Amino acid sequence: MKNDELSLDIILDSLKKRDPHQEEFHQAVSEVFQWIIPFAKTQKKYNKLTLFEQLTEPERIIQFKVPWTDDNGETKINRGWRVQFNGAIGPYKGGIRFHPGVTISVLKFLAFEQCFKNSLTGLQMGGAKGGSDFDPKGKSDAEILQFCQSFMTELHHYIGPEIDIPAGDIGVGSREVAYLFGQYRRLTHRFNGTLTGKGISFGGSKLRPEATGFGLIYFTEMMLQEKDDSLDGAKVLISGSGNVAQYACMKALELGAEVLSMSDSGGYIYVENGLTKEQLEQIMELKNERSGRLKEAPELFDCEYHEGKPWGIEADVALPCATQNELNGEEAGKLVNNGIRCVAEGANMPCTPEAIKYFHETETLYAPGKASNAGGVAVSGLEMAQNHQFTSWTEEKIDEKLREMMQQIHRTCAKNGKTDSGYINYEKGAAIAGFRRLADAILMQGGF
Ligand code: NDP
Repeated sequence: MKNDELSLDIILDSLKKRDPHQEEFHQAVSEVFQWIIPFAKTQKKYNKLTLFEQLTEPERIIQFKVPWTDDNGETKINRGWRVQFNGAIGPYKGGIRFHPGVTISVLKFLAFEQCFKNSLTGLQMGGAKGGSDFDPKGKSDAEILQFCQSFMTELHHYIGPEIDIPAGDIGVGSREVAYLFGQYRRLTHRFNGTLTGKGISFGGSKLRPEATGFGLIYFTEMMLQEKDDSLDGAKVLISGSGNVAQYACMKALELGAEVLSMSDSGGYIYVENGLTKEQLEQIMELKNERSGRLKEAPELFDCEYHEGKPWGIEADVALPCATQNELNGEEAGKLVNNGIRCVAEGANMPCTPEAIKYFHETETLYAPGKASNAGGVAVSGLEMAQNHQFTSWTEEKIDEKLREMMQQIHRTCAKNGKTDSGYINYEKGAAIAGFRRLADAILMQGGF
């Protein structure tokens, strides 16, 4: 960057010149920096273009070949990556995603977001993300095991309990984390807390599977409480039916909400009077045990199945919990016109910039994933602490700590994001708070 005046345009132009095809990454940088730059310009120590160059350049990107053999004996090749984005506040930490849509741009956006999210938790965790363009759909258990072992055969060189601690994400659940951990142990001869999301019998934390979804609901309840409102009796739309969506639904039901929808990449189910706990259990069995599709749900209980997304249904709260850019500006308009009062992201970057702009313009409560879905990585941090101490904490203790962390993140976002009209801009609050801790650590370490 030649011009040394700090501006979003200069930063984005430079990123686009260097990596023109990384659209998701540019989008993530733009969404975060639009709030940070005006703030940084008011503070001498942050008003430096080089600091922002630091924040947009990953410390390390590792790319590797992942060969594996399918059940017919044919060799297949996928690509694997680990993006170690910033380690100024702790060892790198972030999930692994197996999905055909994974590219270096997607992983850079996720790792960049993770730096700010991890900073917000107050724990010592830097930001990273990894994954592969491998599609786990339709693969046998033996193929998944093969793939995970081959992936870890490369990755194990670059990770460790004080270096980089991966976890699950889309397509990587407890089964895959266990396969990855088993191979890590065989290759390194070490049993340690290098992965989180492990099974309870080998160092996993209680409540880790539930943490992202539960934390999302705690955060949503706190947002509503700011308006003397609550989830009790509220009609809730959930997209996705994976890990985050399932446990968000479970906790929402516990707090008295009516969950009207869940979705997968094929379409969504609509349950007019709200899902029951038993129906959620049937969905969990369908998705987790049988790798089924939601279009089979009407055979299990009384519900409608439609192709597309659930954002046209009338409700009070929307929780996008599937994937990036799954809720656009037009859908945001429909939601608000249909009475939505609060949108909290369970997924990473599920709302497009147009959707978020609309929520701010209409002063609809809106929480970005880096705040509202931080419960997952927060409990991963607790799993690391338990592993270091060779101990295991009770579910009650972890739930209490999860609530406290979500409360602290909510408080920090509210403090940094309050506007003159009283509306809390959680997006701005989360970006500024995450930035301050990270930037201070980078500057104190000599700008590196
Ligand atoms: P899962 O793989 O368990 O579930 C993903 C869900 O999203 C599935 O229902 C899947 O449908 C759906 N989905 C995936 N891709 C698409 C798509 N292109 N269009 C529509 N639906 C899609 O993943 P998680 O629940 O773990 O993750 C969901 C989101 O939450 C991701 O953005 C992830 O980064 C984020 N997140 C996850 C955390 C965690 O602890 N797991 C922590 C913080 C954030 P189908 O079954 O058809 O594939």
